[in-house]
Amino acid sequence: MARKYEQKRIMKMLLLSGLTVVSLSGCAVVEDLWGELTGNAASSETTDSQTTSASFETETSEEPVESSEESAESIQSSLADQLIDVPEAHTSDWNLILVNRDHQLTANLEFEPYYTENGFILDQRIAERFEAMLADGRAQGMEFVLVSTYRTLADQQANYDSVYQSYLNQGISHEEAVKKTEDYIALPNASEHSTGLAFDITEPDLYYQKDMGLVDDFDQTLEAQWLYEHAPEYGFILRYPKGKEAVTYIQYEAWHFRYVGVENAQYMQENQLTLEEYIEILQHNESIRQQMEANSE
Ligand SMILES: [Zn+2]
Repeated sequence: MARKYEQKRIMKMLLLSGLTVVSLSGCAVVEDLWGELTGNAASSETTDSQTTSASFETETSEEPVESSEESAESIQSSLADQLIDVPEAHTSDWNLILVNRDHQLTANLEFEPYYTENGFILDQRIAERFEAMLADGRAQGMEFVLVSTYRTLADQQANYDSVYQSYLNQGISHEEAVKKTEDYIALPNASEHSTGLAFDITEPDLYYQKDMGLVDDFDQTLEAQWLYEHAPEYGFILRYPKGKEAVTYIQYEAWHFRYVGVENAQYMQENQLTLEEYIEILQHNESIRQQMEANSE
């Protein structure tokens, strides 16, 4: 298993080195990824990846073109080389819906509601895995407190307004209140909670005994540790990890999980990718496949 992932990672490093220059040179997320995978800072990455990808370009351009058929074949194979080895998934898959500051909802999504033990709503399609995860964790002695799941756009607007107002009431400026609100609260149409695929969770000591609500300290608890390790087996990822704030636009949230499907979640965990970064890779693959299709016509 570990070996398989290691191979995948190496493959990805090689391919990302080609794609940063060849096809996605303007793509900040992939360039960041490249930097992370190789240990190169984004600024020093250009020279290295140009060197690495030079072989791609010279190979293609220096090969003698004997017939148009052969040339199409070699283009096809060089395109195929740029595909990144990820699970079978598509950006239009229901479980990969991206909702963030740049991808806002315009209306409430329609899905069949599933009511959790406390009457919270999730998308019916994730109910079985969600319940299995909580049950398996509880069987291991974990005590979970589910705090929040689905929110309509109006709920999120109210949530946003109330947090913003509470900052204003502390006497800080409008600008400062907006900033502090948006550190943790998504814009009214930009909350993942509106997908029915996300939930906030904690444990009783922090939530009831210490009355601390949702706090980063959750990550020190056995419950959080168990979830970080096992949630991907049920298709869930920690959606706003530490160190990825520039990609997600949301501060680290130790308590917010999102369903993306088991294979996607395990791949994202193994490669430390956020949903934004994973989708960037899928888009890259989709664009390469389109080029391959056009080339084969
Ligand atoms: Zn949340």
